[in-house]
Amino acid sequence: MTKKINIAIDGHSSCGKSTIAKAIARQFGMHYIDSGAMYRAITLYCLENEIIQEKKVNHQKLIACLDAISVTFRFNAEKGESETILNGKNVESAIREHKVSSLVSIVSQIKEVRDKLVVLQREIGEDKAVVMDGRDIGTKVFPNAGLKFFITARAEIRAQRRFDELGDKAVSFQQVLENLKERDEKDSNRAINPLKIAKDAIVIDNSEKTEQEQNELIFKIVKDFFFTYFLF
Ligand code: C5P
Repeated sequence: MTKKINIAIDGHSSCGKSTIAKAIARQFGMHYIDSGAMYRAITLYCLENEIIQEKKVNHQKLIACLDAISVTFRFNAEKGESETILNGKNVESAIREHKVSSLVSIVSQIKEVRDKLVVLQREIGEDKAVVMDGRDIGTKVFPNAGLKFFITARAEIRAQRRFDELGDKAVSFQQVLENLKERDEKDSNRAINPLKIAKDAIVIDNSEKTEQEQNELIFKIVKDFFFTYFLF
C-alpha cells in the first residue's frame, strides 16, 4: 500500500503561509495548493459580473452562477509554479490586486461558496500528496492531515511585508494594515469554518524569524514526521 499524506498550513493573512507551503512542496516533492486563490478567483468573478456592488454581494445572483464558475490551477513550467485559472482565463495576477483582497472575506463567508470550494480542495488532495494553505485546511478540508501548522506574526510586520510585496503603490501602508486586520477579524469570526487553531496544529509565530530560520525549523519538523510515519 502506498502511504500518502497531506500537510495543512493555516494562519492569519499575509503571514507567509504560501512561501512556507511552496518551500515544503519543493523540498519534499509534494504538490502545493493555494486555497485562498480559489476564494480570490470567485471574488474576481463577482467583480467582473457585477455580483458585488458597493461592497455588497448579491447572494442570489452568485448562488445562481456558482455552477458556471470553474476554478483550476495550471502549472507554469517557466516559473515553476501553478497559476490560477478562472473559466479558462489565467487570473493569477488579477486575483492579487488590492480590490480583490478588500472584498474576498465577504465572499468567503458565503456557505455555498465554501461548500463548493471545500469539495474541489478535497478532490485535489485525494490522489496526491499536497501541501495546502488557507484558513480552514486543518479544521475542515483535511481534518486528518498528517501534519498541521498554524502560522502567525504581528499585524504590523505582516502588513509591512505585504506592502513591500505589492507593486501597487497607489495603496498606502495604512490601507494594507487596515485590510489585513479587517480580514483577520472577518475570517476568525464568520459563522462557517472560521479561522482557528486546530487542536493538533503546531503554532509558529514568525514575527522575529528570517525565512531561512523558519524553513530550517519547519523542514526539521516535516523530516522527523516523515521519518516516523514511513518507518511504522
Ligand atoms: O490566503 P489568502 O490571503 O490569499 O486568502 C484570501 C481570503 O480567502 C482570506 O482572507 C479568506 O477570507 C479566504 N480564505 C478562506 N479559507 C481558505 C483560504 C482563504 O476563507 N481556506
